[in-house]
Amino acid sequence: MSTTGLRPVSDLPRATPLGDIAGVVSAAREAATSGRTRSRAWRVSTLRQLRELVVAHEDALLDALAADLSKPRFEAWAAEIGFILTDIDHTLANLDRWMAPERVPTPVTFQPGSSHIVREPLGVACVIAPWNYPVQLLLVPMVAAIAAGNAVVGKPSELAPHAADVVEAIVRGLDDPAVGVVLGGVAETTELLTHRFDHILYTGNGRVARVVMRAAAEHLTPVTLELGGKSPAIVTASADLEVASRRLAWGKFLNAGQTCIAPDYVLVERSVHDRLVDELRARVREFYGADPRTSPDLARIVNDAHFHRLEKLLHAGTVAVGGDTDADTRYIAPTVLTDVTRDDPAMAEEIFGPVLPVIAVDSLDEAIAFVNADDKPLALYTFSGDDTDHERVIAATSSGGVCVNGTIMHISNPHLPFGGVGESGMGAYHGRAGFDTFSHRRSVHERSTRLDPSLLYPPYSASKLRLVRRGLTLPDPRDLWARGVGRLRRRNG
Ligand code: NAD
Repeated sequence: MSTTGLRPVSDLPRATPLGDIAGVVSAAREAATSGRTRSRAWRVSTLRQLRELVVAHEDALLDALAADLSKPRFEAWAAEIGFILTDIDHTLANLDRWMAPERVPTPVTFQPGSSHIVREPLGVACVIAPWNYPVQLLLVPMVAAIAAGNAVVGKPSELAPHAADVVEAIVRGLDDPAVGVVLGGVAETTELLTHRFDHILYTGNGRVARVVMRAAAEHLTPVTLELGGKSPAIVTASADLEVASRRLAWGKFLNAGQTCIAPDYVLVERSVHDRLVDELRARVREFYGADPRTSPDLARIVNDAHFHRLEKLLHAGTVAVGGDTDADTRYIAPTVLTDVTRDDPAMAEEIFGPVLPVIAVDSLDEAIAFVNADDKPLALYTFSGDDTDHERVIAATSSGGVCVNGTIMHISNPHLPFGGVGESGMGAYHGRAGFDTFSHRRSVHERSTRLDPSLLYPPYSASKLRLVRRGLTLPDPRDLWARGVGRLRRRNG
């Protein structure tokens, strides 16, 4: 693992002085109030500059992620740097379309006139990110905020200090007070949240999300909460077990399981339980070799607290694959647990590490009931050879997103909004959804002055009321058309 050029943790500027935070926020506020961040030119040039800075810091970022999480360079590039670059490219390619006013119909009764929606910036956004994908989860929301014409202040996680240091250098490289960074942990974030923002996007756990939401309520600031939870995978007897095991093992052990949408546990039809476990064992060996400790492709646990939390999960159930640990290097082998019950520690909370419980169920209905007995998850995975199984699962459950016969990949499509529901979060971003999250949808109705009938104005009269009643209840031709189309769709299944 190369860490060339990285400063030792002891030398890192770990926190912005509390007294300086107001200055970062007010500089962003001034930039937003001046109106300069609204222009297309500012948005495009800032995003292009940001892209160049990310590319210029590529090696530093890869080294930082290796230092913080032993993140393999492949994973660091694909899931962080590449993800950000693709997101900026997609945003730049579509920005004109997203910024264009959206024409909407005006019912006949409100003619002559026209209507449209303008997406305008909210003002100053705040983005608070966690440590597991510390670069991507900070910069991708910041890209959306900038694209929507906002000033923005980012707060990387203090638990990935090298990544935070490089990200701060990247933002400093923009040399624009409209885009700022605050470094630090609880104290600094608490201070940051006393300031008024026009939108806060927080990614992390549900406990802190409640702190963020309470602080936001003081200023009536809208929030997007990107949280986690136990994302289940369901495997039916008709699934291709080799493919399912490969995609499950990849999604689970990527970043050593420290991925918000990692499959948390597997519910598998009893008849194929043992075969699935055998296939998972084979995949772990293929991916990481006979001793995964020596594999360069497996990340480590972020800190001692998380390591000890995860180690305790191995004490209940049967270790069917893996199970080795090493506290000095915070190594936990890719592990599959069987004979796990809902009362075991592994099922009490989100695992967020390389431990995969595989639980046998007797039917798809039992699996659906199991999922529905818990909070709505961030992601849900179904593996089956029968499309009606997927349809049944999707119709009978709720989750932030679904990936059929796969894991993780649904978040890579910028055309799909990414966000949770219930305990797994509120709101969404990625691509157009991110642009919309950081925009106000402003309704504009333009009226012609050529006609100005006195019908709506006082003095009112019985005859005016009769005419208004008739006019307002007149069916709009567009509604009639929509009703007809709906009927046709239902008839054609
Ligand atoms: P974390 O500890 O890095 O915390 C996230 C942010 O909150 C950090 O910037 C931190 O400084 C700040 N913070 C922590 N305590 C605070 C407090 N008391 N007041 C104000 N700010 C505070 O990360 P984490 O919470 O351990 O992240 C892991 C969780 O995040 C998991 O549940 C995971 O599923 C979820 N997650 C969700 C997504 C998503 O996109 N939905 C992505 C990654 C992680």
